[in-house]
Amino acid sequence: MPADLILRGATVHTVDAARSTAQAVAIEAGRIAAVGDMDAVDGLRGPATRVVDLEGAMVLPGFGDAHCHLGESGHASTLCSLDGSDGPDEHLRRIGAYREAHPERDWVVGSGWSMSDFPGGTPTAAALDAVVPDRPAVLTNRDYHGAWVNTRALELAGITAATPDPAGGRIERDEHGAPLGTLQEQAMHLVLDLAPAPTHADRVAGIRAAVAYYHRLGITASQDAKVDVEWQAAYEELARAGELGLRVRGALEWDVGRGEEQVAELVERRRAGTVGRLACGNVKFFHDGVVENRTAAMLDPYLDAGGRPTGEYGIDMYSRADLERFARLCDAEGFGVHIHTIGDRAVRESLDALEAAIRANGRRDARHQLAHVQFAHPDDLPRFRALGVIANVTPLWARLEAYVSEMTLPFVSERAGSGMYPFASIVRAGGALAFGSDWSVSTPDPRHQLATAVARRDPLGSAEEPLLPAERLDLGTAIAAHTIGAAHACSLEAVTGSIEPGKLADLVVLERDLFGLAPADFLDVRVLATLVEGEVVHAEPGSALAGGA
Ligand SMILES: [Zn+2]
Repeated sequence: MPADLILRGATVHTVDAARSTAQAVAIEAGRIAAVGDMDAVDGLRGPATRVVDLEGAMVLPGFGDAHCHLGESGHASTLCSLDGSDGPDEHLRRIGAYREAHPERDWVVGSGWSMSDFPGGTPTAAALDAVVPDRPAVLTNRDYHGAWVNTRALELAGITAATPDPAGGRIERDEHGAPLGTLQEQAMHLVLDLAPAPTHADRVAGIRAAVAYYHRLGITASQDAKVDVEWQAAYEELARAGELGLRVRGALEWDVGRGEEQVAELVERRRAGTVGRLACGNVKFFHDGVVENRTAAMLDPYLDAGGRPTGEYGIDMYSRADLERFARLCDAEGFGVHIHTIGDRAVRESLDALEAAIRANGRRDARHQLAHVQFAHPDDLPRFRALGVIANVTPLWARLEAYVSEMTLPFVSERAGSGMYPFASIVRAGGALAFGSDWSVSTPDPRHQLATAVARRDPLGSAEEPLLPAERLDLGTAIAAHTIGAAHACSLEAVTGSIEPGKLADLVVLERDLFGLAPADFLDVRVLATLVEGEVVHAEPGSALAGGA
């Protein structure tokens, strides 16, 4: 059969097992028909074949985002989003503009500021009142550990100087105890619980917005790392209608407030949630929190401001026995177990639980994975390979910005700090690596992730120094983690993640070959086109693939 589409004149990085390169790809009925040199692929040319000369562009398998919050973040992008906003003045200008553009909304709900934007990390209600005086406003920060609220919101929630801090939360106050306008952790919910919840239609629209954004970035597969019943319903609706624009692996949220009785429900939800491009085959556990508020579970005690050990080791969401039992039950049902692990103790205990599950149930081709792996003890690094556990990491976090150099490293032991984000060490120990952005905690832009993975510094950041340069990845390894590695974490490597005959034609075309460029220049390389199953879902205006396939 002649091909529908031939892409030629490019450097095609196939990311096959041999990491081979080619010059051309032929696509037929949504799949790769051939990949190789120009002559070989030209043999599939027929009278109706569209032939596109890419003039030295780079063709890669479509990127995979192995850990993100696709639906929620897409929904947030349809509200008052501060994504890409640069500091308090622009934040306020954007919030004011959103209020004016949406007179029909009773609340201004948004997200995307960061603690480093404000003195002391705490924005004020007074500042927000200047642009939203008449309606309640609540904006969560980028990592969802704090919320900025205005006076109307404080009034509605009844928060005054007399309101005690809720368990697990803090109301930032002035010297008289009056609320200032920043609510930390659980205190956020005093206001967030009053704000309008997204409707089913809002969720569906949120997923559509996220998919369109991912297409522009060259992403063709993803894992939503926390899917509850409502989000699953929205994904299912799109998947059933054939309108889910990329492949989604759903990690079903384990309800920490309940026990093993939920396993049967998860099995049923997997059955219903495996339709079209959706497959809900993983279960998500949170084993610890984050370092910045000392909830990450560490092997060594946290240090105080003077560098002296405290008695604090962070928190555990589960006892060791519970985590072992739940992991064993999920493994026995054939789920991939996906565990949020920031601290080195969380990593160790999670590996212990997965090891016990494998011992009890026997070894199978499971896709168990630890998300984030900010710290890992050297003794635990070989265990990723030994147990077949995937390190599902966000390379953009491995940089010496303020939240690492000022909010993290001074408060953990030197030993822990010397093994931060040990990506190259895991690879050297034979472990499998997958890249996930954790969007909207971080940008999902693969160019930005790749640049930081190879440089261990953020090309847009302020730090000149790399973070632990021995943990730099070579570009080929980083690309593999963002394509075939992510596909593997999503149980999709048999159908996508590399450019090989028979696989789905999920591809991205970048303006130039990243190999040979300085990492800082990756960000300037345009995403010319994205193909999902051979269909052009994004094309830069004026580029060779613009104008339909
Ligand atoms: Zn996450």
